[in-house]
Amino acid sequence: MTAFITVKPDYAYAEKLELLKGLYHFIENEAKNFGFVCSPGCNSCCTTYLWTTSLEARYLKEVLTPELEARLLALKEYPRPGSTPNTMAFLLMQGKNPPEDQMANLGPCPLLSSENLCLAYERRPLTCRVMFSKTKCELSGEAIMPPEFLGLSSLLFQLIEELDVGGVYGHLIDQIKFLRDLEAGAQEVPEWLLGNREAPDLAYSPEEEYLRKALSRLYRLKLPSGKTFKEHLDEIKEGFGQREALSFLDEIL
Ligand code: SF4
Ligand code: SF4
Repeated sequence: MTAFITVKPDYAYAEKLELLKGLYHFIENEAKNFGFVCSPGCNSCCTTYLWTTSLEARYLKEVLTPELEARLLALKEYPRPGSTPNTMAFLLMQGKNPPEDQMANLGPCPLLSSENLCLAYERRPLTCRVMFSKTKCELSGEAIMPPEFLGLSSLLFQLIEELDVGGVYGHLIDQIKFLRDLEAGAQEVPEWLLGNREAPDLAYSPEEEYLRKALSRLYRLKLPSGKTFKEHLDEIKEGFGQREALSFLDEIL
């Protein structure tokens, strides 16, 4: 069972941020086990395909200079998702087709410096943090990732949506515009930002040994508040109310 969640992006920002930082730290450590060849300055994966949660967008926006924000907002053509990761998983499990994404030609990410480095590296979203390859993309023509890491990435996209209780999902540029409008008193959510929801049963097999162990490591991760990731996640969701029990995500420990 899953539950739609009311949009309320300001809900528990500081608490959700602690989870987000824990998740970022976790994926950084996990990636070290795969022998990826990515290095500073290698940047063909840095494109305008920048879909995020509103929690991540707000965290990133805090360090954007006015020039960088203007550079992002000047971009007119970028892709938009037709559904959130959890909505997509939910619909697929129902045998239904998710709404189509709104595709666009991809260009270089506006946050790249002239030296091909990320100007928001410490706060880059998950979509950038799971981008790795076993061989240089310029040689192989695409990123080469082991299935275990791909599965973990998909799972984390579901989890990062789930932990951003009350938030929305969409392109970073739309998120930044929305946050700016919210600060100016706007009440409405633009139609191209999609309400986050809880994860249904995961699209990846819970029997998968690596995924089960990795999720267990994440859930047991001790956060600065002294709570584990799982305890903190549960508290944030309980505090928001109106949720239904999860299945696989609740069972893992
Ligand atoms: S994913 Fe590919 S393009 Fe991106 S840093 Fe790694 S090797 Fe380079
Ligand atoms: S935000 Fe940074 S890491 Fe992500 S695509 Fe842009 S330049 Fe690359």
